[in-house]
Amino acid sequence: MSDNGNTILVVGGGISGMTTAIEAAEAGYKAVIVEKKSYLGGRVAQMNKYFPKLCPPYCGMEINFRRIRANPNIRSYTLAELESARRHNGSYKATLRIQPRFVNAKCTACGECEKVCPVERPNDFNFGMDKTKAIYFPHDMAMPVRYAIDEATCQGSSCAKCVEVCQYGAIQLDMQAETVELEADAIVMATGWDPYDAGKIDNLGFGTHADVITNVMMERLAAGNGPTGGKIQRPSDGKEPASVAFVQCAGSRDENHMEHCSSICCLATFKHIAYLHDQNPEIQAYMFYIDLRAQGKYEAFVQSVSAQEHTTLIKGKVAKIETDGDAGQLVVTAENAVTGEKVHQTVDMIVLATGMEPAAKAGSLPVSMDSEQSGFLLPSGPEGVLTTGVAKKPTDVASCTQDATAAALKAIQSILRR
Ligand SMILES: Cc1cc2nc3c(=O)[nH]c(=O)nc-3n(C[C@H](O)[C@H](O)[C@H](O)COP(=O)(O)OP(=O)(O)OC[C@H]3O[C@@H](n4cnc5c(N)ncnc54)[C@H](O)[C@@H]3O)c2cc1C
Repeated sequence: MSDNGNTILVVGGGISGMTTAIEAAEAGYKAVIVEKKSYLGGRVAQMNKYFPKLCPPYCGMEINFRRIRANPNIRSYTLAELESARRHNGSYKATLRIQPRFVNAKCTACGECEKVCPVERPNDFNFGMDKTKAIYFPHDMAMPVRYAIDEATCQGSSCAKCVEVCQYGAIQLDMQAETVELEADAIVMATGWDPYDAGKIDNLGFGTHADVITNVMMERLAAGNGPTGGKIQRPSDGKEPASVAFVQCAGSRDENHMEHCSSICCLATFKHIAYLHDQNPEIQAYMFYIDLRAQGKYEAFVQSVSAQEHTTLIKGKVAKIETDGDAGQLVVTAENAVTGEKVHQTVDMIVLATGMEPAAKAGSLPVSMDSEQSGFLLPSGPEGVLTTGVAKKPTDVASCTQDATAAALKAIQSILRR
């Protein structure tokens, strides 16, 4: 693959960042991905299935990983962030800060280290619903295929059991943070989203009632490589729920939380109802919504799931969630906006459809970027700096990959214009 000597720096290694890097590299540019987590793939790696086809996201991810591995024009850094970017002679002098992984490239992911590690940490990949050892493999399909050590939990050289057992010499407990300097001819921000913190929504019981979970937790509960091996069960007692309520716009379209609509939460809930009915078609699903939003081609998917038996849609904003005495159940209170009736629905489990909040806001990045009122970054920043994917607006994966391809082209154009 030819390389014309120009470098595009991509901040964020989710589907948008990977796509930008791949498209730029396949057009002959060098691409450097800077990802703050220990693996590439972003939030998509945490999804169980994609709407509307309900296929696992790994097929698409694996193709991208293969394109990255096969392309010498792409370099990626994990556990890394852009520390500074200074304009210099039409390009940027960028400094990356790379946190120590404590496991080097000799790691074969054999897992012997994990067996002897004596300490555990909450598994952030599964939203704290299970634990990993201090030395952990980020998730089944992680790229790079390499363990990492959580410095905050690891007992360090006073333990070192993992070092003793590793026959490849892959564990280096004295690894230090490092900085990498490089010249970037364009920068693309692909920093994506974080789930809105449901703990901030006082009336919906998250954090108070164990059986109130969020939509991203539901993705992990339904996943075969998730904390329950794919069995959707109540966190409080591990039983299969007989009924589940889905609360839409949890913290979204609400001036006290996030004013924007994340545009995918309704579709995600229909997908979650499909997960429930895949497990047991008798589980009763209630969906409380303000408006149903399904962009363009997704309408048929919504129609097919909402027509399923044991699926009830109630137009009404949920006012509160409480426990039902000693019965271990939960009661959702809402007003049905069609009939005007007050609804008190008793269920076994509740899923809050929390929206997408921009992971990077203006001011949180070392490059001066402006954002909309909602916090999503504007499409472009200073000369040669662009934004792509959910960093720019909440949307689905197909739109992200199209937008990321366009961002690669825009970045190339900005270089050619100089
Ligand atoms: C419950 C739910 C279900 C969904 N289901 C579907 C579905 O079925 N189908 C579908 O098409 N879409 C779905 N989506 C939407 C989908 O998740 C997004 O479209 C997709 O994640 C956007 O990818 P992205 O690369 O733009 O952002 P992300 O996936 O968030 O990736 C951004 C990456 O940037 C990294 N990063 C952030 N800040 C920095 C920084 N400062 N420095 C370095 N790295 C940084 C992050 O660690 C992350 O790896 C769903 C969303 C939700 C909430």
